[in-house]
Amino acid sequence: MGTLAFAVTGGAKIYDSPSGPITAFRDLDLEVARGEVVSLLGPSGCGKSTLLRIVAGLDHLSEGELDVPKRPDGRAAAGIVFQDAHLLPWLDVRENVGLGLRYRANRGIGSSEVDRLLEVLGLAALADAMPRELSGGQAQRVAIARTIVTAPPLLLLDEPFAALDPLTRRTLQDWLRDIRSLLDLTVVLVTHDVDEALHLGDRVALLRGGDRGITATWDVAELDRDDAALGDARRELLDRYATDPLAQIDGLVA
Ligand code: ADP
Repeated sequence: MGTLAFAVTGGAKIYDSPSGPITAFRDLDLEVARGEVVSLLGPSGCGKSTLLRIVAGLDHLSEGELDVPKRPDGRAAAGIVFQDAHLLPWLDVRENVGLGLRYRANRGIGSSEVDRLLEVLGLAALADAMPRELSGGQAQRVAIARTIVTAPPLLLLDEPFAALDPLTRRTLQDWLRDIRSLLDLTVVLVTHDVDEALHLGDRVALLRGGDRGITATWDVAELDRDDAALGDARRELLDRYATDPLAQIDGLVA
């Protein structure tokens, strides 16, 4: 593995709740190399969002260690994008993307960086558009651009395409593949769509949650879409879900 982007060692997250402690996951080990795209796959409630929030510095582990780069002001050097774009409706696309630059830590980046990024991401024609004029897919691209403009060493995507129709979703998946290579991004993508995980990830990690952590990983970086080994990985992934009656996953065949 190349230089580490971040590592979780022996991670556990236990929430307090009125009905007693809730263990989101335990014994979780994950190392992500710089420039790698890891798809984090698992059934609802297995702790995927929790793990992402922890890596982003929005929450903390109950046990174990997180080794993640920090910005000079001590914040985690990771940007996170959620399922909903959350654009500010009174700002146009350029201004929404430029929002990240208002933070002190990012003042080194000029506004020309926003236009350059919009160009690279194929969004230049939308620079003056207002959020209400955007389709769901366009809004989500803008949300990703708003995070990327701060040049986070680590991009965390929490089911970013889940709310989109299948065709738009496929277009955005290909777009993410392209910009990932162009910008040399390190990405952790949370999804419960097996095909999305395999298509976008260099590696797919299966998180089971509860008293377990990541129970299996598949290295698919070198496999083409038509590669038979990809079909094998897909079948194996789906088989693992099929053994768990609680698992809900897109693409699961009964
Ligand atoms: P996923 O993203 O895989 O669907 P989550 O990370 O959202 O899973 O949740 C993992 C588990 O932790 C679930 O059982 C959920 O109910 C619990 N959980 C998440 N956030 C909280 C919280 N703030 N307080 C208590 N329990 C929580």
